[in-house]
Amino acid sequence: MTKADLTPEPLLPERLARAITLGGPIPVAQFMAAANAHYYATRDPFGAAGDFVTAPEISQIFGELIGLWLADLWDRAGRPAVHYVELGPGRGTLAKDALRAMAKAGLSPSVHFVETSPALRAAQEAAVPYAQWHDDVTSLPEDRPLLIVANEFFDALPVYQLVCRGQSWHERLVACQDTMFLPIAGKAVPEEIVPDALRDAAPGSIIESSPASVAIIRAVAKRLAAQGGAALVVDYGYDGPALGDTLQAVKRHGFANPFEAPGEHDLTAHVDFATLAGMAEVSGAVVHGPVAQGDFLALLGIAERTAALARAHPERGAELAEAHRRLTHPTEMGSLFRAMALTGQGWPVPAAMG
Ligand code: SAH
Repeated sequence: MTKADLTPEPLLPERLARAITLGGPIPVAQFMAAANAHYYATRDPFGAAGDFVTAPEISQIFGELIGLWLADLWDRAGRPAVHYVELGPGRGTLAKDALRAMAKAGLSPSVHFVETSPALRAAQEAAVPYAQWHDDVTSLPEDRPLLIVANEFFDALPVYQLVCRGQSWHERLVACQDTMFLPIAGKAVPEEIVPDALRDAAPGSIIESSPASVAIIRAVAKRLAAQGGAALVVDYGYDGPALGDTLQAVKRHGFANPFEAPGEHDLTAHVDFATLAGMAEVSGAVVHGPVAQGDFLALLGIAERTAALARAHPERGAELAEAHRRLTHPTEMGSLFRAMALTGQGWPVPAAMG
């Protein structure tokens, strides 16, 4: 036995603290990436007993309506052989519900999951045993059109932050004192990298950007341009670039300090839909929306589907009504969350995109 076998791997906060002590403060994006990789690799965070609840975990209707949305598009595209792809499928619940609805409409694609967490891959395998897994989008098959879904995926990808110090903008970095992590302003950045309209902001203002999100949306758009198909991105976000610090940590259904206890909270940032749309367009895809999640689900018939399920299962009436409200009400997920679609050139216009 070697010494390495006997020495336990240091915990993430200790590893990050050591890296910062030796190499200096690190970009917010590097801190967020390390924290989330650890967080998702070591637990199943979903549900009442976990840290947060996502739309597919609220109701089976969410995944079913997305399955019907995909099946309708596929039908109008002439029913080609396709692959179903999901980015960050969580527990695999959305995929399972969507695939069941698609099968009823005559669509039974092969299934490809892009997922980095071993713990969540195991949960996904229990939900969809015949899926194939990928570490990133580059290894997705190239032979058929792709039907891609990404629900609450892009918000988990790392963001860089710039902070305004009056006359100059600086990269926001994470420093460490003892075992306390804290954000600081690093070196000034050239002002040309700050959009003109945002340069004269108040001191303390923050601008975010997510190169990881841009890289993935561009890769997805290029695939749709080359192979055909469609992608549905559902997330909470804004139309940037804009001022605002949206980095947040969620623990046990409440908010926590994002710089505390890295790897123990889910770190997210709001998704810049305008930037993703622009990047998808220059990469050859057609962009539809985004539209509010409440409108998207209403147009797909969530009220009718809820009523039908409640008739079939009267004992679940109250639970179904509550799920409908949470998914669509403007004070819940209805307005903050938005759905945006990308299609390959020549593909039909997707339903419910305004
Ligand atoms: N779509 C699911 C889960 C959302 S949570 C739902 O709606 O319930 C984010 C998901 O993305 C998790 O499955 C997480 O493990 C995965 N993930 C986060 N960063 C990733 C990355 N860089 N590459 C692949 N998957 C990632």
